[in-house]
Formats: sequence, structure tokens, C-alpha cells
Amino acid sequence: ATTTAARPTVARLTTGSIPATVGADLLVPLADGRVTDYANFDHGASAPCLESVRRAVEVALPSYASVHRGNGYASRITTQWYERARREVHGFVGAREDDQVIFTRQTTDALNLLARAVPADATVIVFESEHHAALLPWPAERTIRLAAPTSGTGAVTAVADALRQAPEGPRLVVVAGASNVTGEIFPIAELAAVARAHGARTCLDAAQLAPHRPVDIAALDVDWVALSGHKLYAPYGAGALIGRADWLDAADPYLYGGGATAAVGAGTTVWNEGPARHEGGSPNVIGAIALAAACAAVSRHRDAIEQHERSLLARLRTGLAQIPEVTTYSLFGAEADRVGTVCFTVRGISSTLVSAALSAEYGIGVRDGKFCAHPLVGHLLQDSPEHGTAVRASLGLGTTREHVDRLVGAIRTLATQGP
Ligand code: PLP
Repeated sequence: ATTTAARPTVARLTTGSIPATVGADLLVPLADGRVTDYANFDHGASAPCLESVRRAVEVALPSYASVHRGNGYASRITTQWYERARREVHGFVGAREDDQVIFTRQTTDALNLLARAVPADATVIVFESEHHAALLPWPAERTIRLAAPTSGTGAVTAVADALRQAPEGPRLVVVAGASNVTGEIFPIAELAAVARAHGARTCLDAAQLAPHRPVDIAALDVDWVALSGHKLYAPYGAGALIGRADWLDAADPYLYGGGATAAVGAGTTVWNEGPARHEGGSPNVIGAIALAAACAAVSRHRDAIEQHERSLLARLRTGLAQIPEVTTYSLFGAEADRVGTVCFTVRGISSTLVSAALSAEYGIGVRDGKFCAHPLVGHLLQDSPEHGTAVRASLGLGTTREHVDRLVGAIRTLATQGP
């Protein structure tokens, strides 16, 4: 006799302090029919898929076909879905009419794509506090690395000074909207304005900002935005680079192959312009559909997300502040505006042990380490010689008050009684 493997089941989470409108869009894995009480504080790494995103993917799965290549019904419908997804992402970041949306694998891919398109004589300005994805793709000999800023105004002044001294020619300022380590929000509009005043362009790494706060390219006056679907409640594999076409259309294709080409002859190749130029190969259509559905959902839940996360973040920070053994880290100080990410260490206990104990004993998932931001973590921990790494707790839509209270209680117990 054959048996059919049980399909993994999912349920909607409607408990706790999560706003009802949002709760209906949250999926929680069921274990043996019971909702697990896992407290996920790792949204900064990846945020679990929403119900509305799953539904969008399920609609597409049975009938997708190649885009921009076939004339069959399924191909035409799938092409429509793909291009609709592009428009959704365009709207999600408030892009200008002629801005391009290029689907990529994630933010890392998007920033590497832009790095390939930066003119050969361009100077790139970037803070050392950035995630490695924003810090590393640029040509070393033409990149000015600025020390991690200690205030928002300090960041603007440092960029202005660097631009004043930068060589003539094209310039690009690369900056994250929110730090993936401390959650602090950078003054993007001010940085973009100072860049503009010095004839420079700005690329916003919105990997951490977009899931938590609106991003508006036109209002911020930035030139490009990079983001990742998997941090926006979509599955892995799709992200986007959105922005000005000129450098991208002038650059060699990111991947050589089908889709990127307009015509290939004996010894000659004419490359496409527009997004197709940098989307060589069969694209991740399902990923793009999922990313677009996530953008739509996050836009729909925007106010609820911000309210929810602000109140939980305040609760978490107040709780941790009452534990003398805990040190929390920031660039701009306690009052800085930030998304729901907290970076801390516990006196006398390594961060690895803290995160292992939280997982094993309390069902809490945090991250420990240097968070792909080695220079920043080195800078933050310089006065904490006993610690080489830190703990990061990052909130998201599925976080509840109970999760926060459990985390604070667990840290208090670990700090006072040991692991
Ligand atoms: N930029 C920031 C600020 C990030 O937090 C991350 C990921 O954590 C990235 C870029 C890279 O994102 P991805 O791994 O999705 O490419």
C-alpha cells in the first residue's frame, strides 16, 4: 500500500499584541497540530512569508511559463504577471516615471549590479558601518571609506567633506537606510541633498529600511534603491535594483546570455536596453510575483507595522535597560530613530552562549556574531574587550508582547544566574 506524506500545515497567527488586520496575514508553522511558541527575533536576517504572498505564489504555480519568449497563452499571462510585479515594486518605492526596476536575487546582487554599472572614473563614498553587501562591491582604488558616523548630522558633514575633496568626475554615495546592526535610521534625504549639491548620486541600501518604514525614491531624491524580498516577508531568491537608467543602459550586461540580447550576429552582439539588459537568462518569475505581493502587503500594513514595532521596541529597550549586566550599542545614541533592531552584549557571557541558551532553554531565536558588518561591530565593541561579537534581536510583524517579555526575562535570568 502506498501512503501519502502529510503536507506541511500552516496556520494563521491571530494572538497577542499583533493588530488583527495584520494577524490574518501571518503564517505560523504547526508542530503536531499545535502552534509552536517559537519567538523569532531574527527578522533582520529574513522575515517569514506572509499568507497573502503564499497565495499569490500558489495562483501562479500551476500555470507559469516562460516570459517574453513564448506566444502561448501561459507565456502571455506569465509575462503580464511579471511586468505587473515590476510595476508594483516601482510603486512600492515611489520611483520616478523613467526609473528602471531590475529584478535581482537580493540586495547583494542589486548592489553588485550597480557596482558593475558605475562609470570607470567614478568615486564611491561609503561608511565603514555598512553591511558588507554595501561596503565591498566597489572598486577599492576609487572608494573612499568614511569612519562610522556618531550622529546623523556627523554623517552628513562627513559626506560633504569627502565630496569636497573627491576627484572630479562622477561620484556615488552609498548608504543604508537603517543599520542592520543597531537599527538606527540614517538621514537619507539630507545625505542625498548634500550629494546632489556636490554633483554626486546616491544609492540607498533599503534592505533593512523597506520592511519597516516607507521608502520614497522621488521624495528622498536618491538615484537607486536596493532591496531584498526575503526581508520583506517574501521567500528567498528575488530582490530589486530600482532607479536611474543611464548608467545601467551604458554598462555591459550583468549576465551575458539570452534575454539580454537584441541581436547576435557573426562577431557582433547588440545588447538590449532597459531591465532586460541586466536580467539575462530565464528570470525568477515566481520570485518576482512573491516580491510584488510582499510589497503590496507591507504597503497595506504599513501603519500597523510601524505602530506595532515601535511599541514592542520601546518595551524591549526599556526591559533591557533595567538589566545592569546588559550593554546595548548604538551609533547615534539612545534617542536616535530606529527600526526594531537591538544589538547588545551580556557581561560575563559570550554572545554565542547567550544565543544558544536563548534557543535551547527559551525557544527564542536571535542572532549572534558580527552580522556581515565586521568594521561596525569592531567599532561598537571597542570598549567591551571581553566581547568579540554581539547579540542582535530584530522584531517583525510576528513578534508579540509575550515574545518581548520572554526575551527580557530570559536575559535577566542568564545575566544574574548564568546559562
Ligand atoms: N544591506 C543590509 C543593510 C542588510 O541588512 C543586508 C542583509 O542582512 C544586506 C544588505 C544584504 O541582503 P541580502 O543578503 O538579502 O543580499
